[in-house]
Formats: sequence, C-alpha cells, structure tokens
Amino acid sequence: MPALQTNSSKSPAAGTFDVVVVGAGFAGMYMLHRLRGSGLSVRVYEQGGDVGGTWYWNRYPGARCDVESMQYSYSFSDELQQEWDWSERYAPQPEILKYANHVADRFDLRTDIQLNTRVDRAVFDESASRWSVTTSDGNTVTAQFVILATGCLSNARMPDIKGLADFKGKVYHTGHWPHQPVDFTGLRVGVIGTGSSGIQSVPVIAEQASHLTVFQRTANFSIPARNAALTPEEREEFRSNYPEIRRFAREEARNGIYTDMPDRGALDDGDNERRARYESRWTRGGLTFMSVYNDLALDRAANDTAADFVREKIAEIVKDHEIAKLLQPNSHPIGTKRICIDSDYFAAFNRPNVTLVDIKADPIEEILPNGVRAGGKDYEVDALVLATGFDAMTGSVAKIELCGRDGQTLNQKWAEGPRTYLGLMSAGFPNLFLITGPGSPSVLSNMIVSIEQHVDWIADCIGYMRERDLDAMEAGKDAEDSWVAHVNEVAHGTLYPQANSWYMGANIPGKPQIFMPYIGGVGVYRQICNDVAAKGYEGFTMTATERPKMAASS
Ligand code: NAP
Repeated sequence: MPALQTNSSKSPAAGTFDVVVVGAGFAGMYMLHRLRGSGLSVRVYEQGGDVGGTWYWNRYPGARCDVESMQYSYSFSDELQQEWDWSERYAPQPEILKYANHVADRFDLRTDIQLNTRVDRAVFDESASRWSVTTSDGNTVTAQFVILATGCLSNARMPDIKGLADFKGKVYHTGHWPHQPVDFTGLRVGVIGTGSSGIQSVPVIAEQASHLTVFQRTANFSIPARNAALTPEEREEFRSNYPEIRRFAREEARNGIYTDMPDRGALDDGDNERRARYESRWTRGGLTFMSVYNDLALDRAANDTAADFVREKIAEIVKDHEIAKLLQPNSHPIGTKRICIDSDYFAAFNRPNVTLVDIKADPIEEILPNGVRAGGKDYEVDALVLATGFDAMTGSVAKIELCGRDGQTLNQKWAEGPRTYLGLMSAGFPNLFLITGPGSPSVLSNMIVSIEQHVDWIADCIGYMRERDLDAMEAGKDAEDSWVAHVNEVAHGTLYPQANSWYMGANIPGKPQIFMPYIGGVGVYRQICNDVAAKGYEGFTMTATERPKMAASS
C-alpha cells in the first residue's frame, strides 16, 4: 500500500474518516482542501499514479483545454490565480497537469491522497449512518460521507471492433495515453473517431506520421481555437478584472464562461449583419462562437444559419471538394454535440499524407493485423489511435459497487438512466454526494466553475449537519422525481436531444438514452441550489442517529 500520513487537524482512529473522496482530479483536490479547512478527517483515493484526473490520463498529441485557461482554473484562492502564469490562451495538457500538481503541493494536499488505489465498493450501514469503503489494495475504511469526484469523462471506451485484439502494431486510446512520449515519425497511423480528441490530435499526428488515415463515422462541427501565447498584458487584464469575470461566470453565464451575452436571435439580423457577426466570432475563435445569438440551441432555423456558416468555412479551407463535403456535418444541429475547438484540423486534410475514410458509408468491417478493412478496402497502418470517447458521466460511478439502503446498488437504481436530485445526491443513498453528477450543468459548462460550486455547496452542507449533530442526509424521492422531470423538460425544450451524443448516452450500445446534464445554465442552477440550502436543504431529509446514553462520569 502506498505510504500515507494524515495531516488532518483531527486524528481519526485507524481506518475511520469523516469523509472519503473518490478521485484526485480538480474536483477531488478542491473538495479535500475545503473539508480539511473545516477540520474534517478526509481520505482521497485516486486510481491514477498522480493527481490531475482527466488531465493525468488524456496525454494524446494536441491535447489542450477548450475553455481559455485564464478561466479554466481555480478561483477559490486569489493568491493562486494571481500568481500562476498560463503560457497560452488554451494551455496544453502538460501545463494543466503541472498546474494540478502545483495546487496539490501549494495546499499540501498529497498527505491525504492515496494514489494508485481504486475504490471498488462502498456499502452504507444504516444503523451507524456510515459508509464502509473497500479499495483495490484490499483495505476497508469507514466514513460518514462518501463524495464521488470521479469525473465525467474519465472512463475511456474501447470500441468493440472485430480483430482489434489481433492488431500487430501499437494501439493507443486518447483517453488512456502512455506516459512516455509516443513518436509516430515514419509510421502509417490510423485514427478512429472525430470528436474533440480526434480533432485535436489529427493535425499533430499528421505532422509526424508518414501517412495518416482518419476514419470518420460522424463529421463534427469545429471552430478554430486561435490559440496563441498569452502576453503579460493579457494575463494582467484578466487578473485585475478577476472579481467581475469570476462573478459573471458563476452567476450570469449559462456555461460558466465570461463572454458578452447575446441579446438577439439569429433571425433578428439580416444576412449581411448575421454573417458579419459569425465572421467576427470565427476570427476570435473558441467556444463562444455559439453565444453569438441567444436562440442557436433552441430554434432549428436559427441554428441552421450558424451550421451553414461553418459548413461554408469548411468548404473554403478544404481544397478537395469531395473531402470537404464529407467533413461538413449534416447529422445534427450545431452545438448539440459538444462543439470542437481545433488548431488547423480541416486544413490537415489538404496535406498529401492525410486520407479521410467515410466509415458511415463504408463501415469498418474488421481490424487486420496490419490495417483496417472498411467498405471492402484495406488501409495499411502501423499504429492505431482510438479517439472513440468515454462512457460519459455515469461510467466511472458505475464501476464502483455502491450499496445504499436495503442493499440496492446505484447501478440497479440507475438501470434506466441516472436519477438524482440536483445532480448532487440520489434517493436511497444517504451521505453519498456526487460532484458534477448527471442532473447538474457539469459537462455543459466550464467544469471548474461547476466543480467549485458543488464543492462549496457540499462542504457548507456537511458543516450545517455537523453544527446540528445530524448524521444522515438523503435526497427525497419526490424532490428527485421532480428534478429529473425538470431536467428532461428543459432539455427537450432545446435542440440537444436531436443529436446522438454522449450527453444522451447514445455513444454506448445499450446505455439508456436520456439527456444527462442540466441545461438550465450554471447561474440559474446555482441559485436553485442556494435556495434549497437557504430553506434548510429543502427536498433532502436530515436525521440524527439515536446514540446510547453515556453514564455521567463523576
Ligand atoms: P467523442 O466526442 O465521444 O467522440 C468519439 C468519436 O469516436 C466520434 O467521432 C465517434 O463517432 C467515434 N466512434 C466511437 N466509437 C466508434 C466505433 N466503434 N467505430 C468508429 N467510430 C467510433 O469523444 P472525444 O473526442 O474523446 O470527446 C469526448 C468529450 O471529451 C468531448 O466532447 C469534450 O467534452 C471532452 N474533450 C475535451 C477536450 C478539451 O477540452 N479540449 C478535448 C477532448 C475531449 P460517432 O460520433 O459516430 O459516435
């Protein structure tokens, strides 16, 4: 077992904690920091060899964040945000991982984090109102609370393609990339998958490989990142305006990103004005392309204007007309699958060493020892990159056997899709919190904004219970049912459910298809959570366990 000392202000009995946190990514680290600050004993288990979560695993070429780093960063410590120097507008993965490590060291978090340790099972003891948590090293500890900081996109999904196991070359999954540098120089490489990970990695791999074959099932909308080095002046502008930038991102923005708010619909403008606005956002680059108008996620005709604009741009960039046509997305409204942010993705298809294969028309039949057979044609490759995504939002939670009231497991309860109250708790599973769980804005937002909001809410909630000697908290079934209905209703008022996206669980064969994140916006959601807390945690039940009376000592 990895050595670990606890520096918590409380010294728990061996194997007894106030809180077990699962995962030491951005959510788990901040959760630990907050709880320790309240004097609780905490043990964090992390299955990876270091902190960083998704940024520990996703080391593929070209990996970088798609929210500007000055915003995709913690806001809980002003010293931290004032002193950390992001080098680029969108930091590359190694720099984000360095930041995660810096945070772990700066706030002395490592002493309570046990690395290389998976949580396999947690069982709730109703009589004691405590969880019994069993880990991959064979140990069992108990804790009053368990907090799942397991990440939404941390369960890499290997595709079930015939012959994959017999491929002679190296196979890499973007979400589980080796820690040693991978050099594709002189190799023929195949990339399967054209979501964000594929779209970020293709231009970089194309520069190294002797030939790159991209197997595309669904064309995706992508906006240029316009990544660039950040100047000291740009950093300073953010830093001096952080109070307002962070406030806006938390309270007003729908997606937790500071940007100008759209005040009009796409059809309120004439063709020329609309085109000028799209042009200006395209030139600026980044995710805020979708905030140019306020109805792109709501109105198909409005959405079509943005989708047409991007399709035209693809046709302008890609020289070969047939390839351009294949790269133009037509299967879903723009933005209803997570929009991709790229650096020269479409231009990569102008290179003589890059081939696009349409596996929608000609599906992959099998992986051969030295290539890929699709549509009766063999494409020879020396290495395969699977950019095939994740079992998103529920995948990592489902890997843990979580037994709540009456022995019911969370997997049993969620067999028809995840059910939570506010994305924070699920009825029947007392004292079990989720950070950025299904039913919260989560993946539809700047994750760090949503993580900080959940962590603060959970820490405050645990503080409230301790002040009142309350032992157990549970989401009420009625509150949960109403919230699930609300999440659904809001989603179905938008165009999002029209796409076969991982938001809907549609990328996993057999996974129930329901829209998982809450689309009402982070500001609205925060207010709902705050109101619930202000009303004494309305919709939750909180109880005290009968304690045996102690004989009075003389
Ligand atoms: P993804 O969006 O789920 O894309 C997976 C791709 O693989 C899709 O093109 C999919 O095609 C294809 N695919 C899956 N199974 C396949 C199969 N059996 N045969 C052929 N093709 C198959 O996954 P991702 O690109 O890893 O991105 C997931 C999410 O992670 C993103 O949406 C984003 O939220 C996050 N992410 C963020 C960043 C960033 O911040 N910069 C970078 C990477 C990822 P279909 O579409 O037809 O299913």
